[in-house]
Amino acid sequence: MEILYSSTRNSEKKMTASQAILKGLADDGGLFVPDHIPALTCSMRELTGRSYQEVAYEVMKLFLTDFTEEELKNCIRRAYDSKFDTDVIAPIVEAEGTYYLELFHGATIAFKDMALSILPHLMITSAKKNHVENEIVILTATSGDTGKAALAGFAGVEGTKIIVFYPKNGVSPIQEKQMVTQKGDNTFVVGIHGNFDDAQAGVKELFNDRELAKELAAAGLQFSSANSINIGRLVPQVVYYVYAYAKLLEEDKLSDGERMNVVVPTGNFGNILAAFYAKQMGVPIGRLICASNENKVLYDFFTTGRYDRNREFVLTSSPSMDILISSNLERLIYRIAGEDVSKNAELMNSLARTGSYEITEQMREQLADFYGNYAGEEETAARIRAVYENTGYILDTHTAVASAVYQKYVADTKDKTVTVIASTASPFKFTRNVMNAIDSKYDTMSDFELADELSRIGNVEVPNAITEIRTAPVVHDNVCDKTEMKAVIKHFLGVDA
Ligand SMILES: *Cc1c(COP(=O)(O)O)cnc(C)c1O
Repeated sequence: MEILYSSTRNSEKKMTASQAILKGLADDGGLFVPDHIPALTCSMRELTGRSYQEVAYEVMKLFLTDFTEEELKNCIRRAYDSKFDTDVIAPIVEAEGTYYLELFHGATIAFKDMALSILPHLMITSAKKNHVENEIVILTATSGDTGKAALAGFAGVEGTKIIVFYPKNGVSPIQEKQMVTQKGDNTFVVGIHGNFDDAQAGVKELFNDRELAKELAAAGLQFSSANSINIGRLVPQVVYYVYAYAKLLEEDKLSDGERMNVVVPTGNFGNILAAFYAKQMGVPIGRLICASNENKVLYDFFTTGRYDRNREFVLTSSPSMDILISSNLERLIYRIAGEDVSKNAELMNSLARTGSYEITEQMREQLADFYGNYAGEEETAARIRAVYENTGYILDTHTAVASAVYQKYVADTKDKTVTVIASTASPFKFTRNVMNAIDSKYDTMSDFELADELSRIGNVEVPNAITEIRTAPVVHDNVCDKTEMKAVIKHFLGVDA
C-alpha cells in the first residue's frame, strides 16, 4: 500500500517518500510523518537468518513506497558495505545478561553512520525520481556525531554540498578533529559560539527563510537536511530493532512472540522513535526505556507530562545527548494527540514561545510503553568501570548512560524481560572520559595514547576512524557567532555577491 507523508502541523499537503526526503523539513516547520505505520509483511521467524541488508530491505520498502525494488536494493547495497568493519554490520554483544546492539561499526564509529551511510543514496535517488536539477545543499546542525557521519556520507557525492554547524566548545576533541579534517571540495564545517540547541535553531531558521530559498534557487541550489528530522534518516533506524529481534530469535535468546525491551541513550529522540515505530510495525517490543544524561528534559517529561526546556544546559561526557529540544519528540506528540495537527502545532508554538508545554492526561496515558530516567556523570563513569571490571567489555559514555538507566529501571520495576541496549558509539570516540572512568591514572596521557591503551586493556583493535585522524591536517577552521550563520553559508555557496 502506498504511504504518503505530511507535516505534523498541517495534514493538507501530501507527498511521496522521495519528496519528503528531498525536502527534509516541512514548510510550516513541522516534521514529515507517514500517513500510517505499515505492518511488517513477514513474521519475525521468517526474518531469522537474514542479513542486515535483507532485513533493511523488508523494513524500508514498506515506508519508501515510491522507490522501486531495484532503487532501494541499490541504496542498501551501497550503504552497508565494506565501510563497516564487520560483515554483520550491527553485532550483538552479551554482557551481564544484557544485549548490547553495537551500532558503531561504520566509518565514523557512532550509530549515526547506520542512517547516514544510506541517506546520500536515498537523496540522490529521490532527486533523480523527481527530476530535480538543482544542486542539493545539506544543512546540518550537530551535537558531535551527526556532523562527521554526514560529512563522510556526502563528501564527494556529485550534485550535493554539505554544510555542518557544531558547538565550538561542546564536542569531544576526537569528534572535533574528525570533522575539521574532513576532505572533499563539497564539504564545509563551521564551529559556532553557542550550544547544540543554538546550532539547531539557527539551521531551522535558515530552512524557513523564504528569501534565502529564492536566492539559492536562482543559483541552482536547494536545501535539504541530514538531521534525524529527515524521514530518510528515521526509516533506516527502524531496521535496528527489527534486526535485533530477529537475531535474538535466531539465537534462541527469545522465543516466538516473547517481548524484548529496548534501552536507548537519547538526545534528539530519533533512535527511540524508530524503536517505537518498530513496535507499531509489529515487532514484539515491550518497554521503550528512554535514557537521558543530566540534560534530563525527557525524564521530566515522561514523569510529569510537562516538557520544559527552561533550564541550564549542562555539558556532559555524553555530548551527543546534550540537547534540550528533542526535535523528534514532535512526531510522538503528534501521534499521542491522535494525529491532530492543530493540537500538535499549538503545543509546538508554546514550546517556541515559552520554552514549555504540557500534554493532557489522555495523551499521557498513551505513553505507558515508555519509561524515562537519567544518569548523572558519576553514575555513568561508575557504570563504565563496573562493566569493565565484571566482564572486560568497555562501554562508551552514551551507552553507559543507557546501561545505568537500565539498572535503575530494573530496580524500579523488577522487570526481567530480555533487554537490548542500543550501543551508540565506540568507546574510542570518547577515550578520555571512558579511560578516566576506568582509572584516574590515565589522565596524563594524550588522546591517541589513550586510544592505544584502550585497545590494549579492552582487547579491541583501534578503529580505522581513529587511525586516520592521527596525522590528518586540519582543513576547516571557521568559527562564527550564531547570528552570522546565514552570512557564512551565503559566502560558502557564493550567493553573497
Ligand atoms: C546522536 C547520538 C545519540 C542520541 O540519539 P538521538 O537519535 O538523537 O536520540 C546517542 N548517542 C550517540 C553516541 C549519538 O551520536
